[in-house]
Amino acid sequence: MTLFDSPSFEGHEGVHAFSDEKTGLKCIVAVHSTARGPAAGGCRMWPYASAEDALEDALKLSRAMSYKNAMADLDLGGGKSVIIGDSRTQKTPALFEAFGRAVEAVGGRYWTAEDVGVSPADLAHARTQTRYVAGLDGHPAASGDPSPVTAEGVFRGVRLCVERGLKRDLDGVRVAIQGVGHVGGYLAQKLHAAGAKLILTDVNTEALRRVADETGAQVVAPGMIFDVDCDVFAPCAMGGAISLDTLPRIRARIIAGAANNQLADADTGREVFRRGLLYAPDYVINGGGIINVAGEIRALDADAAFDPDWVDAKLDRLALTLEEVLDQALRERRPTNEVANEIARARIKGAAAERAAA
Ligand code: NAD
Repeated sequence: MTLFDSPSFEGHEGVHAFSDEKTGLKCIVAVHSTARGPAAGGCRMWPYASAEDALEDALKLSRAMSYKNAMADLDLGGGKSVIIGDSRTQKTPALFEAFGRAVEAVGGRYWTAEDVGVSPADLAHARTQTRYVAGLDGHPAASGDPSPVTAEGVFRGVRLCVERGLKRDLDGVRVAIQGVGHVGGYLAQKLHAAGAKLILTDVNTEALRRVADETGAQVVAPGMIFDVDCDVFAPCAMGGAISLDTLPRIRARIIAGAANNQLADADTGREVFRRGLLYAPDYVINGGGIINVAGEIRALDADAAFDPDWVDAKLDRLALTLEEVLDQALRERRPTNEVANEIARARIKGAAAERAAA
């Protein structure tokens, strides 16, 4: 299969591969769409087994960012970058400076930020080479760690799904969280404060113990999280958690969490629907982080300070969009992920048409 035939390519405007012999940088910058504005999406550093795997991940993540940014009602398109390497052993300032030069070479059509394996400190090195970096600390426009805002958006989304799907509030609702890292940890605290009963897992036993102690949660081994008795399953680790293999084991009526690309494939989305589960499409419910980043891009462009009220208003709007998706899916008896894709594509197409007409 060639790049253009890959299902994940789907209309990408540009896919850029960069290497730098001196620093060992190998990275891909994928720009899916700039119809709504410059593409924005984080940079992931991961020890991909092959360049093909890295490309596939970049394409999937980049397209998802177009959809996510459209659903979060941001004037941003979708893009993503991946650096091939082990973030625990292969990071150097020079590597991220070389990455910054790669971002600069894309000419402002792509803004980068953090993703798995990349920290604000890494991005500070990239920022020495390009202005198209958000998610930094220590300047008036800085948005800081996006994870608490992502968690707040997911929390509001879980609450909405519980109100609609179970006709109750969060008090006493049993939520199983897979992954208590940055977002899962904050989400656990918010759900605990709202009275939910938590069942947690993580491959990082130290993080798991800490969050469980803070929230009085039950703890299970990573492989057991799909089998626990719960009302809500919240995937907050890596993608592909919901598959035709894991789905029959899930006892929750609602799937709502922070992870990107939660559904292993389109068949899984249809099976979730067939089984009558309420699924909050991942890129809708987890849009809080990019809203935070957009707040920084907006402030940088205007040479102004970061405005948390703007972010909060966008989070309110995001909850309304999730409601719109759930309403339409119920009305049309269709999977929520398909409805969300349709709305996102329509929003992107509408922006492209407006641009063409201007
Ligand atoms: P993180 O790396 O801080 O947390 C992920 C956690 O999952 C880690 O603690 C890790 O040990 C655990 N984990 C990995 N594999 C696991 C497994 N098989 N079983 C159980 N636990 C496992 O990442 P994060 O920033 O919290 O992001 C979590 C997810 O949410 C990712 O999919 C990310 O792409 C997505 N997301 C994050 C943000 C954000 O603002 N950070 C925004 C949108 C989406």
